[in-house]
Amino acid sequence: MKDLIIIGAGPGGYELALEASRLGLSVILIEKEKLGGTCLNHGCIPTKSYYQNALVLKDLKEKEVYGISGDFTFDFKKVKERKDNVVETLCKGIEFSFSKSSVELVYGKASFVDKNTVLVNDITYTAKNIVIATGSSPIRNLFEGSNLEGVLTSEELLDLEVLPKELVIIGGGVIGIEMATIFNTFGVKVEIIEMCDRILPLIDSDISKRLQSYLKALGIGIHTKSSLQKIEKSEGKLKAIFTEKGKELSLLCDNVLVSVGRCANVNSLDLEKVNIEYTKKGILVNENYQTNIPNIYAIGDVTGKMMLAHSATYSGYRVLNHILGKKDNINFNLVPSCVFTFPEVASIGLTKEDLEKEELEAKTIKVLYRSVGKAVAMNHEDGFLKLIIRENKIIGAHILGYDASTLIHELVPLMNEDISIERIKDYIHAHPTLSEILSIALKEL
Ligand code: FAD
Repeated sequence: MKDLIIIGAGPGGYELALEASRLGLSVILIEKEKLGGTCLNHGCIPTKSYYQNALVLKDLKEKEVYGISGDFTFDFKKVKERKDNVVETLCKGIEFSFSKSSVELVYGKASFVDKNTVLVNDITYTAKNIVIATGSSPIRNLFEGSNLEGVLTSEELLDLEVLPKELVIIGGGVIGIEMATIFNTFGVKVEIIEMCDRILPLIDSDISKRLQSYLKALGIGIHTKSSLQKIEKSEGKLKAIFTEKGKELSLLCDNVLVSVGRCANVNSLDLEKVNIEYTKKGILVNENYQTNIPNIYAIGDVTGKMMLAHSATYSGYRVLNHILGKKDNINFNLVPSCVFTFPEVASIGLTKEDLEKEELEAKTIKVLYRSVGKAVAMNHEDGFLKLIIRENKIIGAHILGYDASTLIHELVPLMNEDISIERIKDYIHAHPTLSEILSIALKEL
């Protein structure tokens, strides 16, 4: 009997497998498709590869500002080839890591036989502990017309060979907004239909409302308080029929992206055989990611908690520490999250809405990017840093602006270590850097 079986080789499962084997556990990792899971093959990495193309293209569109003139061409075929190469290179990197490890890799679909045994390709495997890391899949068939040709999931959109002329995106969450940013920059006419009164409804509203106006200025159509009724074929195109603030409207397009959320991959696992408790959202777990069956754990998207790659990875590390009887200090209330749009969004800790819900008194500071010399020099003046401060500590940090995804990591140790404002004020920041925005913000206190 092995020490550990892990089902699913996404950022939750494969990182756990490598770390567990490095620490001396005997490990089997089972994957039904490709190493790297959604993140590497259909999610984080392909979108960020496209995002980088969009970033360069956006700068080129504003080339006169930098004193550059002349024509350029944009070849989507090459853009897609680059994306596919990036994914393949990183896949090979993971394969190489496994070739150097003692992890036994098994390809096939796993299902439970009993609390220590799983079945793959008619062969049974046993272990003292089993970790379910099977991820999530896009919710698709919510609407009439969802099965029409041209109605796509994020995975299918990322695999298109030819750009559509018009794209309607159902859902203004993280995936919808990132795709809108990318495809709008690639020259596609993009319209977003969002049910809530703002895009990115889980992000601090000061940030998401400002972002909404930036995206509209870039030419992205945004219909909030709107709900899709159905999709039908019309004039050789797709017609998305929706209601906006009570009025029925429609949009003609070549493709519709359905990005209304993702559901936990539990169906193929035969969870009933071991009586593992789960809801529609995902598998129920405690703070150590243990299910109701103590030797079976669930990590990452399949728990329906925070659907982020790094959250999946760190929940795997928590499981490993629990199995090894080690206490850790991983704080799952301080998971940074980033949205790769123009400009970027990055966030950690409490939002304005959390404060209102919990009736917490706190001080808020906002500093505009345009007050930072480096941001002006870089021609990236849009956006701001917002800090939420309570009892002399930062309890929330939200950034809308260029490279926010890097900048947020300055806040990660400060908040994890609960460093006081007085102490942070003494930290010297190099000039000129975007990081100076933090020193500027604290001058206001
Ligand atoms: P997954 O990565 O989904 O991996 C699960 C694996 O389990 C899959 O490989 C699957 O084939 C396998 N599997 C399923 N069932 C079985 C079975 N029965 N037997 C064997 N194997 C099985 N997150 C970020 O943090 N940053 C981003 O920028 C980001 N961008 C994203 C963009 C898009 C378009 C999408 C869709 C997602 C994005 N995410 C991002 C989310 C991120 O991809 C997920 O949170 C992450 O992949 C979850 O990791 P996981 O290990 O839980 O599951």
